[in-house]
Amino acid sequence: MKRVTLLGAAVLDHRVWVDEWPPVRRRTRATAYVEDLGGPAAVAAATVARLGVAATFLGLRGEDAAGARVAGFLEAYGADTRRLTVCVAATTAVSSIVIVPGGERFIVSYPGEGLRDDARWVPVDALDDADAVLVDSRLPRAGAALAAAARARYLPVVMDLDVDAPDVWALVGAATHVIADEDLANRLGGAEALLARLTSGGAWGAVTLGARGAVHADGRIPAFPVRARDTTGAGDVFHGAFVVALVEGRRAEEALIFASAAAAVRCETGRLPERRAVEALLAAKPRGGD
Ligand code: ADP
Repeated sequence: MKRVTLLGAAVLDHRVWVDEWPPVRRRTRATAYVEDLGGPAAVAAATVARLGVAATFLGLRGEDAAGARVAGFLEAYGADTRRLTVCVAATTAVSSIVIVPGGERFIVSYPGEGLRDDARWVPVDALDDADAVLVDSRLPRAGAALAAAARARYLPVVMDLDVDAPDVWALVGAATHVIADEDLANRLGGAEALLARLTSGGAWGAVTLGARGAVHADGRIPAFPVRARDTTGAGDVFHGAFVVALVEGRRAEEALIFASAAAAVRCETGRLPERRAVEALLAAKPRGGD
């Protein structure tokens, strides 16, 4: 079985749905509530496992109830959490998320406390049976230690880029495939400028554009048209599915199409995609880049 090792943030998400946004009064009634796993690398790990590829998750959590919930979600989704590090006296990251009609989301994220981003806790032996690595932008120093070890083993390193900071750019330099989000691209002069920067650094790059799909250096992949219930974590699912497609032998551009189908299933159902649903969407609406 193929295996992916993923390192980054693990978050407990509290999601509420509202009919009206922005709020007009001090109190807004939620029409639905869900507690679920969040954090780019953690959601990607859960996606990888749900799609039938082994996922080892490396990350940090506090010694608290939210941390236990996060670990429980990861395990329930099928990820290997034996190397999820419990930090004494630390607080797990949590997010409050408001989802508005149409599925768009607004996130308030608390990054936790006492979760150290350094190379010391990174168990590089987690690469022993890995076929690829995924890192996010939330623990860039730890990610850089894992990425360097992965590159020494000639493994592909997929990176979720959504933060503009020196440590994060150092990690970009160690990645083979970098998929950034539109907010970051907008802050850095647009998708084209960001793609050019990634390409000149030696990585294969792409930028996701929400319901407008994704662009890469040689073209554009439209999104699958679905009725979005919840777009939270669409990018995280996209990255997880992308690395699955890579380890299964797809070229990067084909992997984007698979990822885009998986993310569309997430948006439509609000749940992590199962392979059958992704394949059904791919079969129903075959498409290529243009
Ligand atoms: P992030 O969650 O990182 O902000 P995006 O919102 O860009 O990421 O979404 C990532 C991918 O998920 C998109 O490139 C697209 O393929 C898919 N996606 C996002 N929103 C929708 C939507 N409303 N309908 C269909 N696919 C979507």
